[in-house]
Amino acid sequence: MFFTHDTEVTLTATAALVNTAGGDGELLPDLAALEAFYATYQWTGRPPRTDADLRAVRDLRPRLRRLWEADEDEVVTIVNALLREENALPRLVRHDDWPYHLHATPDDAPLASRMAVEAAMALVDVVRAGELGRLRICAFPDCGNVLVDLSKNRSRRFCEAGCGNRAAVSAYRARKAARRRT
Ligand SMILES: [Zn+2]
Ligand SMILES: [Zn+2]
Repeated sequence: MFFTHDTEVTLTATAALVNTAGGDGELLPDLAALEAFYATYQWTGRPPRTDADLRAVRDLRPRLRRLWEADEDEVVTIVNALLREENALPRLVRHDDWPYHLHATPDDAPLASRMAVEAAMALVDVVRAGELGRLRICAFPDCGNVLVDLSKNRSRRFCEAGCGNRAAVSAYRARKAARRRT
């Protein structure tokens, strides 16, 4: 484990959220899709209830995507702005099977606010550790999804949408084609 567990979970969930606006089209087309996303990534607190919740989450994505694209100074500006705008106030909490970890928004804050602050808090850890390089764009041509490399040897290059498999298949085909030519 490189970061604390809650930071790693948040980074993974934030990458997944950014990728719902990825090259595969809109993966949060309606409230039901957002509810499913909420359940899959085990968000806590008030679940999304209205189209306004959905819009706010969708509108947050391009800003979070910048955390993967921007240089360190811009990332810091975004992180500080998110924490300030949402009046983040960190406190240690314990719930479900989780050991003590940080929450920085009230449990009844809108989902988009909680997503924004959790992402910002996780980025605080990443920046302090000097590990922004672990936030990468998928290396598969034209994919554009974001990923978090939590591997020991910093070797992860592909997103979770199957690009690792796709890359392996194209490499295999290329090898086969090369053999046929020789
Ligand atoms: Zn929690
Ligand atoms: Zn990919």
